[in-house]
Amino acid sequence: MTYQYWNQKMETLPRPELEAFQLAQLKTAVSQALRTPFYKERLGKAGIVNADAIKSLADIRKIPFTTKHDLRDGFPYGFLSIPRDEVVRLHASSGTTGTPTTIYFNREDLSRWTSFVARSIYATGCNKADVFQNMITYGLFTGGLGFHAGGEEVGMLVIPSGSGNTTRQFKLMQDFGTTVVHATPSFLLHVESKMREEGISRDSIKLRKAFAGAEPYSEDTRRRIEELLKIDVYNSYGLSEMNGPGVAFECQAKNGLHLWEDGYIAEIVDPDTLEPLPDGETGELVLTCLCREATPMLRYRTRDLSSFYTEPCVCGRTHRRLHRITGRTDDMLIINGVNLFPSQIEEVIMSMSEAGNNYLIVVEKEGVLDRLTVKTEVGEDIFMDDSRQRQVRTSSPVSPSGRGSRVSGSTISAM
Ligand code: AMP
Ligand code: ZN
Repeated sequence: MTYQYWNQKMETLPRPELEAFQLAQLKTAVSQALRTPFYKERLGKAGIVNADAIKSLADIRKIPFTTKHDLRDGFPYGFLSIPRDEVVRLHASSGTTGTPTTIYFNREDLSRWTSFVARSIYATGCNKADVFQNMITYGLFTGGLGFHAGGEEVGMLVIPSGSGNTTRQFKLMQDFGTTVVHATPSFLLHVESKMREEGISRDSIKLRKAFAGAEPYSEDTRRRIEELLKIDVYNSYGLSEMNGPGVAFECQAKNGLHLWEDGYIAEIVDPDTLEPLPDGETGELVLTCLCREATPMLRYRTRDLSSFYTEPCVCGRTHRRLHRITGRTDDMLIINGVNLFPSQIEEVIMSMSEAGNNYLIVVEKEGVLDRLTVKTEVGEDIFMDDSRQRQVRTSSPVSPSGRGSRVSGSTISAM
């Protein structure tokens, strides 16, 4: 197989040069971070007052971790490092509470992000002859606009179809000869079952490839989608805190996701001790953004579990590969591609005077899509006069922590 590179020099840069580049970028990122109220204080406490504290890549360990909670606490402008009037875009993702985590971009940030997405798309063998239907949510979520811009950069014909409305998606595919789509794996499975239901013949569409991400899925699911739709599926990993898509992506070898190390420094740490783990061991992925000025992000705890491949890829790229994400270290659920924390549901329930203290979140598969049901106890207030006398029975005792959450299989119960 011949492999194509969007930026051959960078993608195949020998490791010593790649690491020297990372070190220079890390120093810049630290200087930039010191311009934000949050990092000025956080780094200051760790004794880092300028980039001179970083003399080698190993010095990254002197930098304290950043968490989603920190982002929430810094909302809205605690992480902004440039004057507000130089910001041209923001994206947001769900936080652990109602406060979203917000990332700001200046013009150069957007163009750097776009080039990482274009590089990712090109690595799968796409080119300007492709017709790309972006079947993912546009808006505050980064997947829509991120892939849109990357697709245009590659020169593909981009159809901003957005997610949902499967019948319309088929029509667009047939009318414009779509060759590539981007979607969540669950939506791809849904598309396939709808295709059968609506009697749409495989020959009436020209689809060859799909980029699937935004939620975890197994190798078996990938194979199932590939066999059912007769396409190649490439795993796409990203998160809003690191711009969005284009952080790590599979090449044509379809064996692990190249993490673009000229844009991001990746560490795998033990989620309990936060100590670095040797290459090959599974732990929490910690990422530092090297390609964004407006919102610096150092040693961000992604909560995603993964590990590095220890051997190089056949494609010749020098950027290390991650295994597909196997889970998370927190209780975040991803429901049909949308992030959700049990604490967000709790906030809504607890604001309802009719609700009691205990609730149960049930996540099931309905066909290929996720279905979430919330069952809650009712409070005494909901009963009318005489029935109020009856004792409101709780289905289970309140846990010592009050309303902690417990994960068991796909069911989370908070009691
Ligand atoms: P968001 O910031 O809303 O884009 O959500 C990012 C989160 O989605 C990540 O931290 C992962 O938990 C999840 N995610 C994104 N892409 C993938 C993928 N390819 N495999 C597994 N999980 C993913
Ligand atoms: Zn490769």
